[in-house]
Amino acid sequence: MWWLRRDLRLDDNPALLAAAGQGPVLALFVLDEALRRPAGPVRLAFLYRCLRDLDRRLAGRLCVRTGDPEQVVPAVAGEIGADVVHIAADHGPHGRRRDEQVARALLAGGRELRRTGSAYAVEPGRLVKPDGSPYRVFTPFYRAWKAHGWPAPAAPAPTEPDWLDPASLSGGSEEIPPDPDLDGVTLPPPGEQAAHDRLHAFLRGPLGDYARHRDEPAADATSRLSPYLKWGCIHPRTVLDGVRAATAPATGGATDDATDGVMESAEKFRSEIAWREFYADVLAANPSSARSDLSDTLARMSYEPPGESFEAWKWGRTGYPIVDAGMRQLLAEGWVHNRVRMIEASFVCKDLHVHWTHGARWYLERLVDGDLASNNHGWQWTAGTGTDAAPYFRVFNPVSQGRRFDPDGEYIRRWVPELRGLPAELVHEPWKCPGGPPNGYPGPIVDHAVERRDALARHAQARNAS
Ligand code: FAD
Repeated sequence: MWWLRRDLRLDDNPALLAAAGQGPVLALFVLDEALRRPAGPVRLAFLYRCLRDLDRRLAGRLCVRTGDPEQVVPAVAGEIGADVVHIAADHGPHGRRRDEQVARALLAGGRELRRTGSAYAVEPGRLVKPDGSPYRVFTPFYRAWKAHGWPAPAAPAPTEPDWLDPASLSGGSEEIPPDPDLDGVTLPPPGEQAAHDRLHAFLRGPLGDYARHRDEPAADATSRLSPYLKWGCIHPRTVLDGVRAATAPATGGATDDATDGVMESAEKFRSEIAWREFYADVLAANPSSARSDLSDTLARMSYEPPGESFEAWKWGRTGYPIVDAGMRQLLAEGWVHNRVRMIEASFVCKDLHVHWTHGARWYLERLVDGDLASNNHGWQWTAGTGTDAAPYFRVFNPVSQGRRFDPDGEYIRRWVPELRGLPAELVHEPWKCPGGPPNGYPGPIVDHAVERRDALARHAQARNAS
């Protein structure tokens, strides 16, 4: 039996290959309340669409069951007489606990839960510092990650697995639930083929200029693979191999500036994939950092409860155009550009003085790529409670960030229609328009200069008190 969780694909799937090597395979997905509850409608709808896509590829032979995996998995394995249930290892706090419980329940019936591979190129926990402790800083992790390397994508099985039809089970397969109400959010196309199409479009186009343009939210300069990586519609190994193949220098060819640019872009892109791996590794070593500060240096920091201004942030009504553009993109697409995520998080933590967990929760509710490790550690990086080596006093100025990374205001005009008529000089500071911001757009809910000073004062106080 192959129990899928975050590996909704048939290609480059070592756990599936291990299962297929043992005989006919039943593919099982369990709709677990613990998976559904925190996901939010956008991520759930994307998951359901990916499952429907996979079921189509399996000609209707994906077995879907609702319930607690601790009961469902042993019951289905028992019914088909599977000795081994194959999975890809899950290193998240919930996944690890769940799998231990399922393994125990299976063992009680004389069956085995066998882990092959994971959702990462280098499995979390594999890399440790020379003193044996886990990494807490990205750069040395990245060096170790590259030196360790990863296997090539798994070769396809010589023959298509012999799929068991769930219709032969007493409970059959349940219908994949209909999409929850998406409130107008547009989702990317789901599934494995869409992930590969996305990768190839990126390799053919934006990858070449990734290093130069990846920080510009108006440019379509990043891969947008994050929702597919989230559910394992594609494995990072496949992505890394695609980048390697697309940028391999022609043998004997002379290098020029363009080639150097491509190589620099490939390196930058690999390092972004490595951030995902780093955060998974940090979470595996520090499970409580999903919910609370990784570092205790700001344990005595004073925060404000999330109130009206936090609500204004959630709905893109802060009066700071780059912040509002990002929040409106989140509400419309379930996705936000990475640079803007950092600006958003800084605004919550440093301008509103609200603890990062509140912002992180809202993101996880709304993001199509919402991932506990990347999201919560991305928030902690900005809050200064996580892995950032240059911590709390990094305060993003929403106006200068906007001017620097969206100089013409193209991104802002795309997402904030009230400001579409403004020229570049005013679009980042619409309160400077004669008569105030146009079309009912709000004035700034806080004064950034004042809040920056306040943030630094709170920081100094917290450091002195600890
Ligand atoms: P690309 O630039 O094309 O990068 C390729 C892949 O590398 C991404 O798909 C992603 O898997 C990984 N990656 C890139 N940047 C990062 C990063 N900073 N940290 C971790 N992985 C990275 N990413 C998520 O996948 N899920 C989240 O819930 C999430 N929440 C975030 C919250 C905050 C506050 C911040 C600052 C970042 C967050 N990120 C998250 C990381 C990053 O913003 C997204 O991965 C990226 O924007 C996805 O777009 P892309 O696929 O086009 O990225």
